[in-house]
Order: sequence, then C-alpha cells, then structure tokens
Amino acid sequence: MQDEKPSAATPHIATGLIHHPYTPPADFQAPQPGVFKASTVYFPTVADMRQREWKDKSAYTYGLHGTPTTYMLEERLCTLEGGLQCVLVPSGLAALALVALAVLSTGDEVLIPDNAYGPNKALADGELRHFGITHRFYDPMDPEDLSRQITPRTRLVWLEAPGSVSMEFPDLPDMVRRCRARGVLCALDNTWGAGLAFNAFDLLGDGEGGQVRLAVDISAHALTKYPSGGGDVLMGSVITRDAALHLKIKLCHMRLGLGVAANDAETVLRSLPSIALRYAAHDQTARALAAWWQAQPPCAQLMHPAFEGAPGHAHWQALCDRVPGTGQAAGLFSVMIDARFSQTQVDAFCDGLKLFKIGYSWGGPVSLVVPYDIASMRQAWPGHLKPGTLVRFSTGLESAQDLILDLHQSMQAHLPMA
Ligand SMILES: *Cc1c(COP(=O)(O)O)cnc(C)c1O
Repeated sequence: MQDEKPSAATPHIATGLIHHPYTPPADFQAPQPGVFKASTVYFPTVADMRQREWKDKSAYTYGLHGTPTTYMLEERLCTLEGGLQCVLVPSGLAALALVALAVLSTGDEVLIPDNAYGPNKALADGELRHFGITHRFYDPMDPEDLSRQITPRTRLVWLEAPGSVSMEFPDLPDMVRRCRARGVLCALDNTWGAGLAFNAFDLLGDGEGGQVRLAVDISAHALTKYPSGGGDVLMGSVITRDAALHLKIKLCHMRLGLGVAANDAETVLRSLPSIALRYAAHDQTARALAAWWQAQPPCAQLMHPAFEGAPGHAHWQALCDRVPGTGQAAGLFSVMIDARFSQTQVDAFCDGLKLFKIGYSWGGPVSLVVPYDIASMRQAWPGHLKPGTLVRFSTGLESAQDLILDLHQSMQAHLPMA
C-alpha cells in the first residue's frame, strides 16, 4: 500500500510510527516493574540538556548512565547488601576490574588473597601489570601475612570469604581492621555471601543506632550467581557506603562505557524477590550432600565453611553464625578426593554424574561439578589442604536425595575403594 503524501498533520508512516503517542502508564500497578530501555533519553530543551546532572541519579541523560530499570535494580541491591550506592556492570569479573581501574594508578600495589577467584589474579597479572600496577598474593588464613605485605604503595586489598574453590573462610573483621589501621582501601568479592550470609557493611552486626560500623569499603558481587538465579544472565555490581568513593567508581564506569542491558536488569529484578528462599534451599542441599561425602572413604577432606574441621570454620561461625544454628552458607563445597585415585579416575567420576552438569559458574537451578588443579592455582600447596584431587560442587534446586543417589552411582562405578 502506498503511503499518503506526507504533510505536517499526517506525517509519513515511518515518522508516524516513530512518534506514535506514548506516555508511561502512571496508574498501572503490578508485581514486577516495567522495563525501560534506552540509549537516547530526550531533553525538553537544549538548556535542560546542558543542566542535567546524572551523577546523583536526580535525572536521566543517556542509557549508559542509567535508566529507571537499572536505578531500581541498583537500589534493591543496596537494600540486599546494606550499601548506599551501587554501579551495575556487565559481569562479575567486570565488577572486579572496575574496582581496580577506578582506585589504582601507576606505581600502586594491590594485594590479593592466594585463594581468590582465579580471573581476578589473571586481571592483575595481565592488564594491571601493563599499567605499572603491581600485585602480590597474601595468605588469606594468616592476617599477620597481610599486615606484613602492606607497604606505603599498597592502595587496595581484595578480600574473599570464603576463597573460591578451596573454600577457606578468613577472619574478615580482623583483616578489615588491619586495612583500616594502615589506611588501605579494602574491597570484598561478596558473591558467596550474596548479602545474605553476613553484612559486608556491618561485619560485627552492631551498626544500628549510630555506631561506627566495621565495614569493607567496596563490595563487588557477581549477580550472575544467586541474584540472577537462572544460569542465564551475566552481571555484576559494585556497592559502597561512601559518596566520594562511589563517584570515583561511577566516573570510571562512565568513561569505560560499562552499561548493562535493560532486559538483563529486568531478569535480575524478577529473581531478587526469591533470592533468600533460594539461598536457603541451596544451602540446605549443599549441607546434606557435604554430610554424605564426609562418610565416604574416597573423601580425604571436606571443604565447607559450616562444617567442623573445615578450613576457617571458626571464622564462619563468628561472622555468620552469631546465634548458633542459624548461620547461612551458599550452596558450594569442595571435596578432596583421596590421592590414591588418579586424575583420570576423578574425571571419570565427574563424567559419570547424570544430574550434576559439568560447567563453570553457579547459582542456578542445576547442580554443577568441576574438578580443579589446585597445584596450578596456588603459589604453593596450602598446608591445611590434604593431598588429592579437588572437586567443587555447587548445588542447584534438585532434591537432595536424588543428587546423593547420583553421587553414589558414579562413585561406585569410578572410585572403588577395594
Ligand atoms: C563467578 C564469580 C565471579 C565472576 O562473575 P562473572 O559474572 O562470571 O564474570 C567473581 N567472583 C566470584 C567469587 C565468582 O564466583
């Protein structure tokens, strides 16, 4: 069909479609917020465009700087983690990188726990080193070692509780105090705790009523894990309780162009209301499986911070289990398979699992398993780890009984004790 000849009153159909009247519904109330997508955001006048301030969220200027959808997610994540300001980035790793790029300059040094999330170490060894920023690894289970390694050049200390893969739980309050005493920024990778197992901005739980809180400066969170909950979205956040520090991060974020997609933000917004229930369910299943593993002969060592005898268990108790029996933990644990079994046998055990899928990341409904080569991941084999092959499990939302039967069948087939 031919378009009519355009006029001011009846524009060309293409123009008409683009300028179709639309006002966001003011009186539409529903459980989930609407999704606002934009690169361009209109200004009524040039003067308004020049005046608009985006840094404090008082106005919208450009999709990359924030939309109603991303602002809403940022506010809810602040509620989850006990922070005051939040910046969203396209992955958890981007959150770690943004923190480093925002606060470190040439000549600075960053300290990283030796059991940190591997790609954070790779970031320091790859990109940061090229910028003349040095890094050193400290023993996360020895706060004295952290103190020894802090020098006048140390600008940032990374903390992780527990460490990725080997799951040692450090004495977080002690390490934060040491950073405070030396005037060094401390940033926590808060993915495991997710804002639920402990409050990174009130580590002693006495922060109400105006006391000075013992808090990390920065919390970085891989929203890819529990906030997404689906194994289908990559996103990260950087949360603070200091306006000047937040502004520094926000400016770096803007200059690097690290926006997130509205539909991804909406997916996380849809998952957040159930995060506490899911976290508790993942936790319960992980503990059932970990308890089962403890009784199995191929298990040389169990690494789950809520279990007696696991590395850093007392620190987990002090931080997460103040009212004994109420402490929470994520659905993650590792098992050191006895050294009498070869890597090939352990690989066959993992391949033999039917419900557990082999895959990185965690936090979704499907249980996952990955064998790790600890020797290649650490400076030296940690004294508190038994020899063997480490297998990391992340529990999904399946029935714990079904998962145990699955572990049992593959163990019988591939890890015979006779
Ligand atoms: C998964 C993870 C990250 C990175 O998240 P991505 O979204 O996969 O980049 C960072 N830290 C920890 C502890 C993680 O488990």
